[in-house]
This record gives sequence, structure tokens and C-alpha cells, in this order.
Amino acid sequence: MKAAVLPSGSRSLEIQELDLPPLPPNQVKVKVKACGICGSDIHFILHGKMKATYSPCVPGHETSGVVAEIGDQVTKFKLGDRVVVSAGTSCGKCKHCLAGRENLCENIGVIGFNQRGGFAEFIQTEERYLHLLPEEIPFAEGAILADAVSTPYHAIKYQGELKAGESVAIIGCGGLGIHAVAIAKALGAAKIYAIDIDSGSLENAKAYGADELILVEKNMQVGKVLKEKSGGIDLLCDFTGYMPNIESSVRAMNRGGRIVLVGIGRNKLEIPMPFFLIERQIRITGSYGSDRRAIPELIQLYQEKKLNLTKSISGIHKLEDTNEFLHALEEKKGNPIRFIINPELS
Ligand SMILES: [Zn+2]
Ligand SMILES: [Zn+2]
Repeated sequence: MKAAVLPSGSRSLEIQELDLPPLPPNQVKVKVKACGICGSDIHFILHGKMKATYSPCVPGHETSGVVAEIGDQVTKFKLGDRVVVSAGTSCGKCKHCLAGRENLCENIGVIGFNQRGGFAEFIQTEERYLHLLPEEIPFAEGAILADAVSTPYHAIKYQGELKAGESVAIIGCGGLGIHAVAIAKALGAAKIYAIDIDSGSLENAKAYGADELILVEKNMQVGKVLKEKSGGIDLLCDFTGYMPNIESSVRAMNRGGRIVLVGIGRNKLEIPMPFFLIERQIRITGSYGSDRRAIPELIQLYQEKKLNLTKSISGIHKLEDTNEFLHALEEKKGNPIRFIINPELS
């Protein structure tokens, strides 16, 4: 099969012909129809920030396609089924996996980083990572359910415990944060404040239901302006990883408020006035990926017409152009949300 391979030590993908290994009995072979380019692919491929644990490495963790072959033990899928492949991998045996909390797995991984991903004509993976994709959801929109939509869903619904009627602030409205806006809207948030340093990202947030747009300067602490504009926030989700945002936002939180960290930052988090946090019982928590609940529940929201992802697809391109659109995403060329690779295009 044709695949976009990341050679060891390289910062650029190379189109290569790879052999497909024989299909293990618990695996499914999927003909890839769409694979999203994620911000983490920029770190992984262009910046060499993470190392692949296998070779040859084929990145891509937002994949949808059609079942092309099934192993002998596969029971839930048949040839021709439309499917989405979960982005996360897990051991399937630890107490968290057994409880259906795969994103807490002791051996959590990401498809593409620890096994071949979706920037290829085919992907072979375990049956338990697949979800049926109904006919009415296009492959491109189905693909991004795997991460760009499910990661913020877990953050908002399960870690953030959003209740209808609450006020929500989303800091950072890129590929993930923008879908946090859409999900907060779908789940009945009363008012959504979108915060970003980029006016194009805020325009996207508005299109997805943000009520107030707050354009901030780089490295500006957003808490003060958020407090002034909102009067109080129930749920704040950060997708930037810039910790001074969090430190300054504690005082903008309502009693019983939740702060959910999704963006990964390297600076330390210092909480000023801890008494404020204690007395108001404000919770600060992390959120990483999603578990088995997210994709089926998102498909349901989509079918109930509470979630529309049409605007998330910024273009569908051929496998050979993956490098070009990794750079275009990094440079935010044309204000993109998600570029999709379709290996069937030539
Ligand atoms: Zn991702
Ligand atoms: Zn596990």
C-alpha cells in the first residue's frame, strides 16, 4: 500500500510502498477514506517532539474508512461497514480499561505514534478501536470525531461536568478548542466566552455558537478581562497550555466552578489566593483524550442535529500533499480548522 512514512530522524513525510502484515484474528483492515491533520502531528512530524515506538512510522490518528477485511475473531464488523478509528490506544486489561475509562490506561498510546496510523491507503487495527459511522456523516467529519471533537467532548462533558444553563469560557479556539465551543453549545451552555489571540479563530468560534469573543494579546493574562466581561464563569476549558491564563482565571470562577486543562504547557502552575479556591470549592482538573463513550455520543448529537461539523473541514487533499498542509496548519494559512487527507485522491 501507499503510505506517508516518517523516516527516523526526519522532519518530513515520504511517500513509500509498504507491505501490509497478515491480519491478526482480532483486527480489522480499513480502507482509509479520510484522515485529519492534528496540531499534535505538527509537534510529532515537523518538530520531532515525540518519538515513534515502531518502524516504519505512519502518522495520522483521525481516521475513517470502510472495512476491507476482518480477522477470524472479529464479531462486530463486516465488510463494507463505514467506521471511525479511535485515536487512543490502550491495554484493554488494566482496571481503568475494564471500567471503560481507556484514557486513564496505564499503557495509553496514540495510533500513529505507537502503531501505523491513517496517512496511508489502509489501516489495520484492533476491532475494539472501531466505531460504526452512519451513512449521513461524511467520512471527513467522521474522521475528526476521533480526536478534534472527542477530546474536547470528554473535557467539557465528563471532566468539566457541564450542566445546561451554565456559563463557559474556552481559552484557545484552534482545532480542539473550536469544537469545545460547538459542544458547549450542543449541551446547552447559557453563555459561551471564546478567548484567543487570533481574530480568525474567534470568527470560527462565533460561527460555532460563541456569544462573546475576547481577543487578547499574546502572553496576556485573561482572567481579569474574563471576570469583567462575564461576572463569573462556571466552566473554563484551556486549550493553550499557557498557565498564567489559569492562575489569573481562578478569580473569574463562580462558586463550584471547574477549570479543565487540555492544552499541554511546560511552565508551572501557581495558584494565587488558595483560600479563594478552597472556600468556593473550585476544582482544577486535567483532561486527556476520551474514552469509549465519546464517539457514539457525538454521533448521536450529530444525528439529533445538535452538532454540525461542516465548517470544520477546511479542505480535502491527497496523500502526497500531507507535508504541505502540515505547514499550512502551522501557519494558519486560510484560517483552517481541519485539513483532511484522502489517500484515494490522486
Ligand atoms: Zn490529535
Ligand atoms: Zn489499560
